[in-house]
Amino acid sequence: MAHPDDIEFLCAGTLRLLVEAGWEIRCVTLSGGDLGAPGGSRDAVREVRRMEAAEAARVLGGTYAWAGLDDLSIHYCPEQLGKVTETLRRFAPDLVITHSPDCYMVDHEETAKLVRAACFASGIPLFPTAAGPTGKGVPALYYADAFEGRDKFGRPVAADFWIDVTRVFPVRQEALAAHASQREWLRSHHGVDDYLSVNETFARETGRLCGAEYAEGFRQHLGHGYPRNNLLGEALAPFVARKAAPDAGGR
Ligand SMILES: [Zn+2]
Repeated sequence: MAHPDDIEFLCAGTLRLLVEAGWEIRCVTLSGGDLGAPGGSRDAVREVRRMEAAEAARVLGGTYAWAGLDDLSIHYCPEQLGKVTETLRRFAPDLVITHSPDCYMVDHEETAKLVRAACFASGIPLFPTAAGPTGKGVPALYYADAFEGRDKFGRPVAADFWIDVTRVFPVRQEALAAHASQREWLRSHHGVDDYLSVNETFARETGRLCGAEYAEGFRQHLGHGYPRNNLLGEALAPFVARKAAPDAGGR
């Protein structure tokens, strides 16, 4: 994902379910979150946020890495593609989750582009990074929901399928709570007064779409060269939720 705490808002429940199913998870943010404070030095802010992200990853049962980019500076270019591909190659994942290509923030949309291309580049021998090619095929790639389930025009972004994260929702909240510096920052900048309740509301509204108490939505990248079997859906088959009937929930 782009920034520390995006993972916890979008897919932390699914990551936790994967851990419980025996998977290893690596939480990576492209940016270290250096602008996420009302003041102070960017280096100091980044240091705090990286520590918080590492703690959140620990809560989920994984580890954390920073891909070396900065806030409001994420854009698709060869240099940044090299950094993202390098990070991907270090972990050689079977399955990757990133942002929706349609989201409210440019950093998120550019992250989706960079991760999509890095998945493709990670096995290509002549694409140069310090870490060598993975020797594996292109990993299965998934896009999480857009924030608030809407694109930059306010239109709904429909998921292909959902994961019911009700059972692990308290862990998702605990992981988000590790980003202690962000509650105060969001209150001052976005006017969001309760970090955890925003997360709870988003997951509950997503759950209403598929008849679960709390859910996270995903779309799979099915373009040429990418795996087309639903690896995530297969790995978490007992938790896959389907579209709710039109009259279900919503009140
Ligand atoms: Zn973000």
